[in-house]
Amino acid sequence: MFSKEKRSEVMSRIRAKDTKPEVVVRSLLHRLGYRFTVNGPKNRSLQGKPDIVLPKYGTVIFVNGCFWHRHRGCKYAYTPKTRVSWWLKKLGSNVARDKAAAKKLRQSGWQVVTIWECQLRSKAKLNRVELKLTKALQVPCSRTERKHVLICPQIRQRAAAARWEK
Ligand SMILES: [Zn+2]
Repeated sequence: MFSKEKRSEVMSRIRAKDTKPEVVVRSLLHRLGYRFTVNGPKNRSLQGKPDIVLPKYGTVIFVNGCFWHRHRGCKYAYTPKTRVSWWLKKLGSNVARDKAAAKKLRQSGWQVVTIWECQLRSKAKLNRVELKLTKALQVPCSRTERKHVLICPQIRQRAAAARWEK
């Protein structure tokens, strides 16, 4: 048993951890039965260090904070009123980095899915995220397969046909 202080310390840690956006998406994926890595070599080595990697689906997921990653049109992606040019430069370079990473990943066959923090803020929104994920992860498709699919329309058709036969 924990002492009272220890317990509240542990509880607050658990709560803080549970509300982290990545954790919300992880538990959603887990509930849907998908296998993924969050701390694997790919999470560390791939461009942009994706939060979640689903190798079987050739898919990476970024769970982005709206402020730091500038969610377009989102009220949380405001610009602070002081040191405006510094912020614009800083936030602009974040966006540029995200864009470059997504491009590289797509070029090497990964499907890139971005989930925004504000999309996890209510049950209804979470349902939409669930729909988005199940749609993106409908059929297993490795990165290599997807890469070929991108390059060659014949392979794309063949792959689609093969999937229907399964
Ligand atoms: Zn947002």
